[in-house]
Amino acid sequence: MRTRELLERLVGFPTVSRDSNLPLIDWVRDYLDDRGVHSQLVTNAEGTKANLFACIGPEREGGIVLSGHTDVVPVDGQPWSSDPFRLSERDGRLYGRGTSDMKGFIAVTLALVPELVARRLERPVYLAFTYDEEVGCHGAAALIPQLRRVVPTPAAVIVGEPTNMRIATAHKGICFCRTVATGTEAHSSLVHRGVSAVMLAGELIAHIGELARRAAQHPVTIAGLEPPFTTLTANVIHGGTAFNILAGRCELEWEVRTVPGDHAVRYVEEIERRAAALVSEAQRTGRRCGIETTVIADVPALAPEEGSALALVRDALSTEEPQIAIPFATEAGQYQQAGWSTVVCGPGDIDQAHRADEYVPIAQLEQCERFLRKLIASHCSAREEAGSPARPAH
Ligand SMILES: [Zn+2]
Repeated sequence: MRTRELLERLVGFPTVSRDSNLPLIDWVRDYLDDRGVHSQLVTNAEGTKANLFACIGPEREGGIVLSGHTDVVPVDGQPWSSDPFRLSERDGRLYGRGTSDMKGFIAVTLALVPELVARRLERPVYLAFTYDEEVGCHGAAALIPQLRRVVPTPAAVIVGEPTNMRIATAHKGICFCRTVATGTEAHSSLVHRGVSAVMLAGELIAHIGELARRAAQHPVTIAGLEPPFTTLTANVIHGGTAFNILAGRCELEWEVRTVPGDHAVRYVEEIERRAAALVSEAQRTGRRCGIETTVIADVPALAPEEGSALALVRDALSTEEPQIAIPFATEAGQYQQAGWSTVVCGPGDIDQAHRADEYVPIAQLEQCERFLRKLIASHCSAREEAGSPARPAH
């Protein structure tokens, strides 16, 4: 099957993160099975979603991992010109939800499978397709620790998020948290009898602001990383029932976007320390309240590295262009944290992603095909012309 046909099938599965991705995963597994490639599934706790992992070639060090997420963002309320879950072509572009982010890359990798199977690979090519990337990279968090146990260290992980086929070696990490403050309701005139959860949340927001101001004083020098410092923001708040009742409950959602080298956990700990101080202050005067913070997702930043992934990808793309930083978090930081050399490079543009009429230019899918073919031919294939026999698989 060609890339376009594969993309058509993939886009046809409405794998919005809130829904199951199993129909797509089952279809991909069957496609691989039919070509003699066995895949392993790693499901979530509820069994409603799965990561798929497959190895083509001998299981040995120095392989290449091609990584993509199978989930897409919702289309609700977006003014699409055509059915978002039906691929359509206009002006050299393929439109549909996920074409850029990032089923286009997955389609390219699947289209190459028959060639890879037919080739005598000296080093393995791995396919790693995940769930729930768009809602906090939960699939990769479940998959990568398992891979680390069974996969001999690869030379490169390529996360095919849309970079217009440029090489991205840096992005920020993202951590989002939900903090629930519980107060004690009372008439708002009787502040000595209760605690307003909204006021507690307000104190925490002020502290988040203070941490953000401090973080801004420590910029890093990584070209293209904007802004070049860790940011913290609180963006959702719900609480209270009336202006004259001390609020019994307030829920706050906030996030930290860390520069490479910085870690969200220290900000979470700072907020928890402040929360503990607020609670004990209220308790000293006999008033009851509580503050609980849950980390919903914590995805590490991707730090620039002069590793084997960068060298291999540069070579296969025949480019001397400087690598770029991207403004969004990906699974690349998770692979790098696992100790694997990782870059982000894929077809499409992040400006198209998450919007109505998302598309990928056909020319970029073709460029990605050429790139992966060259990468695999030069790095993973046996050099038959040199007369050296391929090492046996073991
Ligand atoms: Zn994506």
